[in-house]
Amino acid sequence: MLTARELHRAGVDVLVIERGPLGGESSWAGGGIISPLYPWRYSPAVNRLAELSKQMYPGLAQQLQDESGVDCELITSGLLYTGLDEQYQARSWAKTWSVELQTVADTEHMQQIEPQVNSFYDCGLWLPDIMQIRNPNMMKALKGSFEAHAIPYLEHTPVTELLTDAGVVRGVKTAYESHRADVVIIASGAWSAGFIKNEKNVDVEPVKGQMIMFKGEPGMIRRMVLSSGHYIIPRKDGRVLAGSTLELVGFDKAITNDATIELRAMAVQIIPALAELDIERQWAGLRPGTEQGIPYICQHPDLAGLYINAGHYRNGVVLGAASARLMAEMLLGQKTSVDSAPYALDAVH
Ligand SMILES: Cc1cc2nc3c(=O)[nH]c(=O)nc-3n(C[C@H](O)[C@H](O)[C@H](O)COP(=O)(O)OP(=O)(O)OC[C@H]3O[C@@H](n4cnc5c(N)ncnc54)[C@H](O)[C@@H]3O)c2cc1C
Repeated sequence: MLTARELHRAGVDVLVIERGPLGGESSWAGGGIISPLYPWRYSPAVNRLAELSKQMYPGLAQQLQDESGVDCELITSGLLYTGLDEQYQARSWAKTWSVELQTVADTEHMQQIEPQVNSFYDCGLWLPDIMQIRNPNMMKALKGSFEAHAIPYLEHTPVTELLTDAGVVRGVKTAYESHRADVVIIASGAWSAGFIKNEKNVDVEPVKGQMIMFKGEPGMIRRMVLSSGHYIIPRKDGRVLAGSTLELVGFDKAITNDATIELRAMAVQIIPALAELDIERQWAGLRPGTEQGIPYICQHPDLAGLYINAGHYRNGVVLGAASARLMAEMLLGQKTSVDSAPYALDAVH
């Protein structure tokens, strides 16, 4: 949706073809943290897109609100990490990317930042500038932006195959009809490997993530907190998300009791006050998994007219804005905002 909007704004005729409702899959299900969880564990290829997106998000969220009337709830709630195990890597990363990072040396300081955090944690790292966005709102706002700009889209219309002719893409076939186009972009998240039939395909597979949501009061928790891979995300209206699982179970999106137990236990360990709250909802999404989390943003080397923007794994929201910008620049033959080489089909992903 971001790619289509970017191209439309550049004057390109686009048509978005979506199998379900627009924005109903992983991009709806995610936590909306505008940062990789442990950014220092990722390559510069991921960090470069993340840092560009972080600059773009305030303007993008405002534009989407102006166009759609929907508040994406982009808020700078900061991200508090428990523990100092990776502080040297984190410090070096923060210096490289000019990100503010503070060391938190005792429980008192931890609780000054987030009063609800468990007193059991006596040290950590604090990144005050990390933002979050509320995924379902962002999807609604993007759809509203499509309406405002009259960007055409088809919902409940699965693409069944690419139309090709002598090494050139001519369009796509859906369950209902064929659509001719000079350019086709595969941006189908976890399902992106299903279209290319030759050996040069994307290596993207679904990685299920489950999330639970508590119903709390606004302001009860103010900061995002990350501890041993589990995170807490407080929303503006008092809802609190706790995530997430990492499961390799194919395209199965069922929620499980085991996940409820695991996520609730971790949430209560991080913020003990959550023990008093009911779980209002649980859901699962399928992340478009790649081994290193480096997305494919490229032209297919053998099929003229075929482009790919997929495989953003755990970071498709934070990387999304910059990825759409890069894809549009590549397609329009413009100078790119970042070097596109790491996102090529044959690069490491
Ligand atoms: C629990 C969880 C937490 C997450 N937290 C974060 C986070 O905090 N920050 C972050 O940056 N990222 C996060 N992510 C990752 C992020 O959500 C994804 O990387 C991102 O949403 C991927 O976007 P996408 O557009 O590629 O895929 P999707 O949003 O899945 O969209 C792909 C679309 O393609 C459609 N499609 C598939 N096949 C076809 C077909 N044949 N024809 C037509 N349409 C088709 C699908 O219906 C779908 O709507 C999280 C993910 C999960 C599951």
